[in-house]
Amino acid sequence: QGEEIVENLKQAVVDNSLENEIQVVRTGCFGFCEKGPIVKMIPDNTFYVQVKPEDAGEIISEHIVKGRKVERLLYTDPEKNEHITDSKHMGFYKKQIRIALRNCGFINPENVDEYVAREGYAALGKVLTEMTPEEAIKIIKDSGLRGRGGGGFPTGLKWEITHNVEGKEKYVVCNADEGDPGAFMDRSILEGDPHSVLEAMAICGYCIGGNHGLIYIRAEYPLAIERLKIAIDQARELGVLGKDIFGTGFDFDVELRYGAGAFVCGEETSLIHSMEGLRGEPTVKPPFPSVSGYKGKPTNVNNVETLANIPVIINNGAEWFSAIGTEKSKGTKVFALAGKINNVGLIEVPMGITLREVIFDIGGGIKDGKKFKAVQTGGPSGGCLTEKHLDIPIDYDNLLACGSMMGSGGMIVMDEDDCMVSVAKFYLDFTVEESCGKCAPCRIGNKRLYEMLDKITKGNATEEDLGILRNLGNVIKDTSLCGLGQTSPNPVLSTMDNFPEEYLAHVKEGK
Ligand code: SF4
Repeated sequence: QGEEIVENLKQAVVDNSLENEIQVVRTGCFGFCEKGPIVKMIPDNTFYVQVKPEDAGEIISEHIVKGRKVERLLYTDPEKNEHITDSKHMGFYKKQIRIALRNCGFINPENVDEYVAREGYAALGKVLTEMTPEEAIKIIKDSGLRGRGGGGFPTGLKWEITHNVEGKEKYVVCNADEGDPGAFMDRSILEGDPHSVLEAMAICGYCIGGNHGLIYIRAEYPLAIERLKIAIDQARELGVLGKDIFGTGFDFDVELRYGAGAFVCGEETSLIHSMEGLRGEPTVKPPFPSVSGYKGKPTNVNNVETLANIPVIINNGAEWFSAIGTEKSKGTKVFALAGKINNVGLIEVPMGITLREVIFDIGGGIKDGKKFKAVQTGGPSGGCLTEKHLDIPIDYDNLLACGSMMGSGGMIVMDEDDCMVSVAKFYLDFTVEESCGKCAPCRIGNKRLYEMLDKITKGNATEEDLGILRNLGNVIKDTSLCGLGQTSPNPVLSTMDNFPEEYLAHVKEGK
């Protein structure tokens, strides 16, 4: 539909002889999926929602030609029942701070000039011409940025470790193998602002002493791939990728590598194996990729969202970034809000915001006026949190302490009708399918765990089985080789902790 809307808007501009005054620009995602497709009018910031291709003519003839807003396409505040024209006053956007998503929905991602106009490549210029690698690394360390792919490892420290390892050939890898069901944070950044990731990779290359960048991206993301290819060509033409960048003698270039959709390839050692043409299986760490990664060389792996934060941290300073968030988790986090929530979409919020604010203020509450039951954070191996967790500030440590995790940013909301045992079974089905099979606890243990859940949901289990289920979940957590197995029992264990009555009901009622 979006493509058709763009074409119809362009035609309407021609029909009204406005080609010299009005530009129709395709941008990246605005995040408010629930109300898409969206057309934003600049400079008055009118935000038209749920636009259809047949609305294009009226938008141009009314809004542009006659200076009258098309009321039926305006967003209506659900509480006050009033139109809101500017998105910054909408509940969905009010509490958001867009840093990683700063350019998504603002610039044409296929036009490097628009990126440059918003300070694009200024950070790279600053780092290359005014700073030593150590000085730039210090800014990233001081900012408090932690890996947004799920691990939460301090980014500056990771860069410093790779910088300190001896080696003539080093690699910068961008992990764009986003695999959580329902998550599309990285895809949106790459589709809406690909240059921010390229710029960050070049900055990282300078800091660690590497000249090669590799982006490992899912082949199922054709638009992101197309935009990255365009961005790489434009960056080379502009001289911000390639030889002798900004005349400093620093060379850096980026290549794409395609993933075939295996969830485990999001784990950095599997990802590196896959790029080397080997089976995408994890290996025991150490050695960490920083010491021995791609082709055995020192390799720094960061995910897309982590990298998208880098240029703006360099431009605005460590203090600016670290002033946002909680004591141990600085900045913002992008989440993909999904499930039984009114405002499905992509949001970026400061660390420390509560789940209640995210679900009720930004998410607009539960669909069809139903009661909130649980929210699953951290992707398929995250935990299910409940009513009692709603006022806990969201950060890496608090989510872990509640039995869940930050993960890469999936957030799925459940209502009073959802059976939590079936929810746990659904996620386990995913991890059983995606286990690489290398180690027994994950390969065999998760299968047994799934079979037990199946027995419970069919009413064939005893209370003794519940004890065995918990015990097996803990053994899998403690003994699996990689993060996939170490976290896969989380949905089972967290639902057993937070909804024990539902497990017992299946056992007692025999259904
Ligand atoms: Fe493979 Fe699972 Fe073992 Fe990880 S934990 S190595 S995914 S079998």
